[in-house]
Amino acid sequence: MGKEYDIVILGCGPAGLQAAMHAARKRCSVLVLGRIERSSLYKAHIENYCCMEGVKTGKELLEAGINQCKGFGVDFLHEDAVKTEIAESGGFIVGAESTTFKCTALIMATGVSRKGLGLKREKELVGKGISYCVDCDANFYKGARVAVFGNGSAAVHGALTLKNIASKVYLITTGLEISPGLKDTLDSSGVEILCPRKIKELVGQDRLQAIVLDDGTRLELDGLFIELGAKGAMELAAFLGVELDPERFTHIVTDKDQATNIPGIFAAGDICGLPYQMAKAVGEGCIAGLSAGSYCQKLKREAAKK
Ligand SMILES: Cc1cc2nc3c(=O)[nH]c(=O)nc-3n(C[C@H](O)[C@H](O)[C@H](O)COP(=O)(O)OP(=O)(O)OC[C@H]3O[C@@H](n4cnc5c(N)ncnc54)[C@H](O)[C@@H]3O)c2cc1C
Repeated sequence: MGKEYDIVILGCGPAGLQAAMHAARKRCSVLVLGRIERSSLYKAHIENYCCMEGVKTGKELLEAGINQCKGFGVDFLHEDAVKTEIAESGGFIVGAESTTFKCTALIMATGVSRKGLGLKREKELVGKGISYCVDCDANFYKGARVAVFGNGSAAVHGALTLKNIASKVYLITTGLEISPGLKDTLDSSGVEILCPRKIKELVGQDRLQAIVLDDGTRLELDGLFIELGAKGAMELAAFLGVELDPERFTHIVTDKDQATNIPGIFAAGDICGLPYQMAKAVGEGCIAGLSAGSYCQKLKREAAKK
């Protein structure tokens, strides 16, 4: 068994880092597990975060966040949690890849894994013409030629948003699954619908230049938005009995203190649901860190009275 902590945080993105800062400043011992290069923010370019002018890369923001946390005494282990369980003596056991930790409170900030196309060069071109988030990146494509790939309302709303920004918008779909009202809006929007079509190939070395469809059509593009929805990595939470949203089981349910239904387990960031934005992740991380800190202090006070 490795060291014992007041709080272990699963996730090294903005939610986990902000939670760590606030918990550590409440004089709790804190360990953060996770890898910054797996944070959604890592390859993003951020220009909509309050009090931060210009565009910053996610990588520089995350590296700054880690240094800030270290300054407050937070420990880091760049490994994934592979097992979580409720300890018989109270608190939680967290198994990382190389060792196991015990803690009084747990904060889940593991984000969501976005579904991709699984095509060659897709990962290398993320942030270089390929995006999974229209709300985040649309403004980088003013006057550009872009395409959205997807079948659902997220893809259609994405295409409609881009129509007000880009010069040319394609919606590539294998078959739309949307309401008749939204289909009417789409049909009169000027978005060019290519259906039923799949994307066969991504072209471009340092940036996306074009895509090739399954019928051989080549589209010269500045941007491709993949809007297939997002799926949460929920196994660890489900194993602990944490309540998930009842419809799709993709998000953790929390109250206004970011507390879950299991005492001592808190959650923050994308794993708690839309909108997937850094500002929301940071805000929820702050609340989760403070709540987990108060929870640990309360247990310590009660133990001291005995
Ligand atoms: C291309 C792109 C562009 C974006 N642009 C913007 C933008 O312009 N503005 C904006 O506000 N937002 C933007 N976002 C969204 C933003 O990045 C996310 O909302 C934010 O990163 C969510 O933070 P998070 O901490 O909840 O999750 P993440 O940042 O995704 O972090 C999740 C962390 O959990 C860790 N983890 C996962 N599983 C485990 C495990 N089993 N054990 C331990 N750790 C684990 C990962 O290693 C990672 O460190 C963008 C996202 C993408 C993908």
